Amino acid sequence: MGTMHYLLLCAVIFLPETPAFPVQLRAESWTSIDLEKVKGYLDKFFPIFTKTQNISIEERIKKMQTFFHLTVTGKLDKETEEIMTLPRCGLPDVAEYKTFSGTPKWEKTHLTYKILSYTSDLPRKKVDDAIKKAFKVWSDVTPLHFRRVHLSRADIEIRFARREHGDGFPFDGKGGTLAHAFPPGEGRGGDAHFDNDEKWSEVNQEVNLFLVAAHEFGHSLGLDHSDVRGALMYPIYSYQNPEKFKLPADDRRGIQKLYGKKSSNS
Ligand SMILES: [Zn+2]
Ligand SMILES: [Zn+2]
Repeated sequence: MGTMHYLLLCAVIFLPETPAFPVQLRAESWTSIDLEKVKGYLDKFFPIFTKTQNISIEERIKKMQTFFHLTVTGKLDKETEEIMTLPRCGLPDVAEYKTFSGTPKWEKTHLTYKILSYTSDLPRKKVDDAIKKAFKVWSDVTPLHFRRVHLSRADIEIRFARREHGDGFPFDGKGGTLAHAFPPGEGRGGDAHFDNDEKWSEVNQEVNLFLVAAHEFGHSLGLDHSDVRGALMYPIYSYQNPEKFKLPADDRRGIQKLYGKKSSNS
């Protein structure tokens, strides 16, 4: 079980050394700051393409532009640069997509969760409510049940943490990566971590905790990123009113493929 989420994570940790930049890039008047930034982004979120030797940064940018349905130029144009600076989920967009999307899922319908630490941005009760509501997004459309525990170990453990926090995936301070989660499995499988350098909110100020938590729990249950704009599992954060939130059809199809529909008596 544990190996399943590990496969995904390996793609992030064990990046092969990227060869020195080809000289022709200089001719395109990229500054070294641009290059470092772009490379950092691609290494982190599109790592699978670093596995192929001799793939140029233009090709890697094209893959990223294709995922986000941008105009595919292979250049760091304004549209592409903007996408790279948007707040987003910390999981890669295409790494080991098949493994993650295909297999890992919980082999039981009654799951437990535990909140190990809090943000100081919100009262604890508000955090508890946002987390509960985020689980309900998924239990409303599947046979899954979520029960909070305080003492025993839980399937899904939730933490707010800063920078390096013990799992080898350090957060990056304010902005950028907002949170990450591990696909279903033993140990840290299913766990969800939230960057405590963000300013968490229950409304449309800074980052809405409920929306990000609902997205991360999608990963905790086995869903990978979707390239459908507007889907909850789209990797980039965008605000919508939590009161009016309705799980988009793309996400509902995804989760029901894994766990089936909610039966009338469950
Ligand atoms: Zn994500
Ligand atoms: Zn973490």
